[in-house]
Amino acid sequence: MKNLLDKLRYRLTIFMQGRYGIDSFSYFLTAAGAVLAVISGGGYLRYMFFTGILLEVWAIFRCLSRKFDRRRDELRSYLDVKRYVLIRVKLVKLKITERKEYKYVLCGSCDKILRIPKGKGKVTVTCPICGRQYKKRS
Ligand SMILES: [Zn+2]
Repeated sequence: MKNLLDKLRYRLTIFMQGRYGIDSFSYFLTAAGAVLAVISGGGYLRYMFFTGILLEVWAIFRCLSRKFDRRRDELRSYLDVKRYVLIRVKLVKLKITERKEYKYVLCGSCDKILRIPKGKGKVTVTCPICGRQYKKRS
């Protein structure tokens, strides 16, 4: 039995040589596809189910692909979108949780979250990353 598993592992290793494999975008596609397929229940939400299946197929396609450049471009785009969304979610969370002491703004050029103390009048805020200055009312 162990010998058979070793043979299968060896064949799978040979099969996957020169292929892209799994990255974080593939994990995301797999998880999103599974969630869509499960919550659709196969009834009224048939299109959601098929969308979930398509995401799964896309994830498998990416794993087996030999075009590394295209897969890396997809991964880069995914990471950019993920970063964009996560920063805005964090900004909203900070605006809600610390709304009494601070005001939060987003730097327009580098997406750094800037914190301004409240009750100080009109202040000039300098982004520590890019050095851009903003005049904001605190
Ligand atoms: Zn900045």
